[in-house]
Amino acid sequence: MISAGLMTGQTDNIVAVLLRASKRPSKQWRENLRRNKAADITEGHPRVWLMGDAIHAMQPNRGMGGNQAMQDCADILPELLRLSQIAKSGRTLSTQDVSLAVK
Ligand SMILES: Cc1cc2nc3c(=O)[nH]c(=O)nc-3n(C[C@H](O)[C@H](O)[C@H](O)COP(=O)(O)OP(=O)(O)OC[C@H]3O[C@@H](n4cnc5c(N)ncnc54)[C@H](O)[C@@H]3O)c2cc1C
Repeated sequence: MISAGLMTGQTDNIVAVLLRASKRPSKQWRENLRRNKAADITEGHPRVWLMGDAIHAMQPNRGMGGNQAMQDCADILPELLRLSQIAKSGRTLSTQDVSLAVK
């Protein structure tokens, strides 16, 4: 049996963290969700972009979730800046513009 803080009474600074790891999603995960006609129409919507742990949480002992999240930023940023340029030029961004960018 393991006990922590039992002798000193310092149990209030013990934090229990539920660790989760995701499975590699299919490259077609959005299409797969949207193919199901009964599904919520917001599921897999191209205007919802996922990055970091939201799309690929890893166990902490791999020591790479933070790096992966920053890599996601580097991948996503140019697309967001491009979309921002289009919007600033006065053209309304279509869902298709956003869909192509997120792909
Ligand atoms: C114990 C531990 C050790 C780790 N060690 C390493 C390591 O050595 N090296 C490494 O690369 N990675 C490590 N990781 C993984 C790394 O911390 C994560 O992969 C990384 O922080 C993910 O970044 P993120 O921006 O995707 O998510 P997060 O850092 O979780 O950021 C999400 C943010 O969204 C906020 N949020 C949540 N819900 C809402 C809401 N409804 N509205 C507004 N804000 C919200 C949260 O408060 C949080 O600030 C470790 C993880 C753990 C748990």
